[in-house]
Amino acid sequence: MKIHVFPYGPLQANSYLISFANCAVLVDPCVSLDESDWGGLRIAGIFCTHGHFDHISEGERLRRITSAPIYAHRLDCPMIEGIDERPFIMKMPRAVISPPILRLEDKDILSPKTLGVAEKADFQIEVLHTPGHSDGSVCFLIRDTDPDTSEHAALFSGDTLFAGTVGRTDLGGSMTQMIASLGKIALLPDDLPVYPGHGPSTILGQEKRTNPYFTALSGNDII
Ligand SMILES: [Zn+2]
Ligand SMILES: [Zn+2]
Repeated sequence: MKIHVFPYGPLQANSYLISFANCAVLVDPCVSLDESDWGGLRIAGIFCTHGHFDHISEGERLRRITSAPIYAHRLDCPMIEGIDERPFIMKMPRAVISPPILRLEDKDILSPKTLGVAEKADFQIEVLHTPGHSDGSVCFLIRDTDPDTSEHAALFSGDTLFAGTVGRTDLGGSMTQMIASLGKIALLPDDLPVYPGHGPSTILGQEKRTNPYFTALSGNDII
């Protein structure tokens, strides 16, 4: 698979285009991409790591021009659909995507078959529910199962894990949940590339060794 990053705007939220032999998927629809960006490939799905406005602002338009379904964790869907009226959410800028948004759960695995890709395609998208930044934050572990490609797996970590730090937990999230989510991510292999919702990519092993939130975990014998 090939991974293209499109950083965007003052908040520099990253949009990712992950392309396979015959189709592609988008992670975090927050950049005004168009057909020229995916070069004629079919977009099989649009995946939201969470519901904050800076990650979903182009979702409605991208769904219209690609006809691809939008996926997000069940717990962030009310925020994305603009019907979550918790006070801290009402204070944030909002981007809204109209239903349907397809609900994801922890451990869901999406394949070309479940995405309705008729062409031969070898990949899978595994959902890791990683609350802490928001209730419905997820990481997507995307594996290319075609042996001819150079990069076989990558983690799209949204605002859960950044290079050197983690996402803020004061927007309705919880540090206790964040720590538990990092414990879950820590079980993944050290050589896994990580593509965060903001900032540069990193390698999971480096985060385990140097990111203070991970090193605090190991000090507590959690990992
Ligand atoms: Zn966020
Ligand atoms: Zn963000």
